[in-house]
Amino acid sequence: MESVQAHYDSMVEAIKKYAPLADMALIDEAFLYAEKMHETQKRRDGSPYIIHPLAVAEIIAEIGLDTDAILGALLHDCIEDTRATFDDIATRFGRPVAEMVEGVTKLTRVQYSTAEEQQMENLRKMFMAMSKDIRVIIIKIADRLHNTRTLEYQSPEKQIIKSMETMEIYAPLAYRLGMQKIKTELEDSSLRYLDPDGYSRIMEFLSSHKKEVDQFMNDVQSMITARLDAVGIEGDIYGRVKHVYSIYRKMDKQSKSLDDIYDLYAFRVIVGSISDCYNVLGHIHDLFNPVPGRFKDYISTPKPNMYQSLHTTVIGEDGIPFEVQIRTWEMHETAEYGVAAHWKYKQDGQGAGQEQQFEWVRRLLENQQDTDAEEYVHSLKIDMFDDEVFVFTPKGKVICLPAGSTPIDFAYAIHSGVGNSMVGAKINGRIASYDMELKNGDIVEVLTSKAAKGPSRDWLKLCHSNQARMKIKQWFKKERRDENIVQGRASIEAELKRMSVPLSVLQNEELLPTLLKKVSFDSLDDLYAAIGYGGITAVKAVNRIREELLRASRAQQQKENDGAVNPLSPRQSKRSDSGVIVEDFDSVLIKFSRCCTPVPGDDIVGFITKGYGVSIHRRDCPNAAHAADPEQAGRWVKVSWADTPVDPFSTSLEIHSVDRDGLMLDIAMVMTGLRLKVTELNARALPDSKCIISLTFEVQDVNQLNNVRNKIRMISGVADVVRSHG
Ligand code: MN
Repeated sequence: MESVQAHYDSMVEAIKKYAPLADMALIDEAFLYAEKMHETQKRRDGSPYIIHPLAVAEIIAEIGLDTDAILGALLHDCIEDTRATFDDIATRFGRPVAEMVEGVTKLTRVQYSTAEEQQMENLRKMFMAMSKDIRVIIIKIADRLHNTRTLEYQSPEKQIIKSMETMEIYAPLAYRLGMQKIKTELEDSSLRYLDPDGYSRIMEFLSSHKKEVDQFMNDVQSMITARLDAVGIEGDIYGRVKHVYSIYRKMDKQSKSLDDIYDLYAFRVIVGSISDCYNVLGHIHDLFNPVPGRFKDYISTPKPNMYQSLHTTVIGEDGIPFEVQIRTWEMHETAEYGVAAHWKYKQDGQGAGQEQQFEWVRRLLENQQDTDAEEYVHSLKIDMFDDEVFVFTPKGKVICLPAGSTPIDFAYAIHSGVGNSMVGAKINGRIASYDMELKNGDIVEVLTSKAAKGPSRDWLKLCHSNQARMKIKQWFKKERRDENIVQGRASIEAELKRMSVPLSVLQNEELLPTLLKKVSFDSLDDLYAAIGYGGITAVKAVNRIREELLRASRAQQQKENDGAVNPLSPRQSKRSDSGVIVEDFDSVLIKFSRCCTPVPGDDIVGFITKGYGVSIHRRDCPNAAHAADPEQAGRWVKVSWADTPVDPFSTSLEIHSVDRDGLMLDIAMVMTGLRLKVTELNARALPDSKCIISLTFEVQDVNQLNNVRNKIRMISGVADVVRSHG
């Protein structure tokens, strides 16, 4: 039976050697806590349970991870197997540690099944967990490593299930993480249970040939050592027989017997600098004959899992081929422990957290394109996540979206404000169209502008997620663009009419682009919407349009002296009589206020505007209340209706009603019956199934108007009909 003390000492040794900056006091505390929690539990071999967390912590320390990860390893089975709680661990050892333990627990609870469907789900869950904190999956891999080392104590059935799981999930993950050493061990120990015959055949072969193998290894090693000494390159040379599973796979793949295996042996030369790597390569090729097409430069082009080395295969004595890997110490560290190597302590105490997490997941995904990846039949395949796509913000945050998502979905996933102010997007640094489908691992950047006009209706068709669709709809609802367009359109048409500019100018395809340019809008709807929400006043817009029309008209008249049709029709003179008499003023420009739309018969007052003549309000209009303001007093004038017949007046009513089917139709029927021209009929829903309908139409005078009011009041559901006050 193994002793707790021996495991504890072994862990401390690993910490001292590989993670010397770790907080030993805290680690001791966690050890005592875990030991207490697991007190009553035993391993399958009868030893105290705490040996397992100690061994896992030792593996984590060997990798050189930080204090939190070592604590996480010591406590990793506490939530799952003991009465320890998340809160308790968080209080004692900090929230990050508790979260890690919880993460590991979640992975532990994932039920492995060889059923494809279940497996996909498992992998997906793991994936999600991993992208939150990579240390979780590293601890889980270390946990699995220790469990495979002690698999002999499990039942034969469990040995096979666990080994399959290791082979299908954990070894590929370790590979993707660049943890070569652990991946190798996981594969070899799994093979031992999955194909005991194959495993022992290889082991027997290797041991029966041990003498020759050792001799061969020594010879090659001496030759390389002698050459490096001679040329003054300092380096360490290691020879090894390739790991069992790698030989097994080669036999299987090439349908060859052990004797025919192409390269069984590998040498590793580790030097101080990259230039030495290439120098060594030259010397190796000088000493032995290189096999054509077997040289790979993973230094200039690293593998997706960050692996860097020069690989070459050469022919040694007696025609035995062997591989040589040449790398620096730093590259070696990365090759052995992969992404974990980047988690080592930093002197400044700042972990390289976020970036490394991001980098890892990104590379993991990129690895899908790696040609070497096809070697790993059981590797994670991206189509296992075919209903989701994982992409990144420029800062490395992982965003999970439904497959088929576009930059629009991404933008709204970040924040609705980002989506609403989006003016463009970049995918992997390149400008991308809004309908471009995002792929796993894409880095997506949303370009925003404060001047953005907000989402367009098309976006609803281009987005894929319900979230984006909902947020876009919300925007439209909130911004009420449609309503703004209707309102803006009504305002500008009223203003055009008032200024005697024919409405048709806005339908004139030749003129329209110039006019829109003049007011700086891309489309009529944009202009209407802007007027609707008050971005620009109708008066200003019409003034600009008018200026442009006058300019165009003058230009045209000068050009063709035959007097082309002036877009400003002579209607102005025709309507010189507005139907209103202004006291003390003979001839003055009259306009009817839009706020209260007075009609003949109404009690009215006039207000001298700056530059627009006299504007006419109903006396009960709230705007006319300013008449009381002493400062403005001089600008109010007495006005009265003239008896001369005039064109009908546009006016508006607000109808308060119960919101019911057929209401609009009933109102329209009343208006048709009265033979009155309706220019606008809009309903706005209110809470409690009520609504307000705004009705704009033309009447001759107030009697006619009152008649309309009375008729509408009689419609079922209508509560009140009031004149509009703007
Ligand atoms: Mn465990």
